[in-house]
Amino acid sequence: MNLAEIKENINEACKRSNRNQEEVTIIGVTKYVTIERTVEAMNAGIKNLGENRNEEFLKKYNEIGTKAKWHFIGSLQTRKVKDVIDKIDVLHSLDRLSLAKEINKRASKPVECFIQVNVSGEESKHGLTPEAVIPFIEDLTTYENIHITGLMTMAPHIEDLDKIRSVFRLLVELRDRVQSKHYHHAPCSNLSMGMSNDYEIAIEEGATHIRIGSKLVGS
Ligand SMILES: *Cc1c(COP(=O)(O)O)cnc(C)c1O
Repeated sequence: MNLAEIKENINEACKRSNRNQEEVTIIGVTKYVTIERTVEAMNAGIKNLGENRNEEFLKKYNEIGTKAKWHFIGSLQTRKVKDVIDKIDVLHSLDRLSLAKEINKRASKPVECFIQVNVSGEESKHGLTPEAVIPFIEDLTTYENIHITGLMTMAPHIEDLDKIRSVFRLLVELRDRVQSKHYHHAPCSNLSMGMSNDYEIAIEEGATHIRIGSKLVGS
């Protein structure tokens, strides 16, 4: 458990960018680890957990329940929505209208969603193109169970830190554009970006939610 070290790094990144540490939520990504290890992380102070597969999420949810705040960070199949939607607190991977439609139909209360954006354009990545985001949000106006809390992206897994930074900057610009439209259903103030290898850069650029797995709980 490297929480102390990670918190120190977060603190330093906040200082460099004149931000307040409280603006950054650490999501402990427990997809690689057991329930025992997940509980250990919670006892160390991690209250937000991230899972990317519905079976694994349900297994952990059945043990841990609402003691954690649950972030679903993987791609969600439309036919699985009904099994998980009232158990997750935040969805980080809204990327298509058919998924929004199913969530809107199945959820018993509004769900906080991040729209996943494929900023880098890598074929292997899920997410809307940056240009598609605003039209997508406008299509969601009448979906009363969808609340757009922010945008999410994954930077490419590369050595070039400037390139990684530019991906995060593009997401920030897009978030600012959405915010300036003052959509009632999409305040879109948050940015879910930064993982084990790039969370410090993400924080310098404005991340509000970082998703850390391997460096926090191990892989
Ligand atoms: C696995 C995963 C993470 C965490 O990755 P690490 O590099 O282990 O920190 C973050 N976000 C998403 C969407 C993931 O699938």
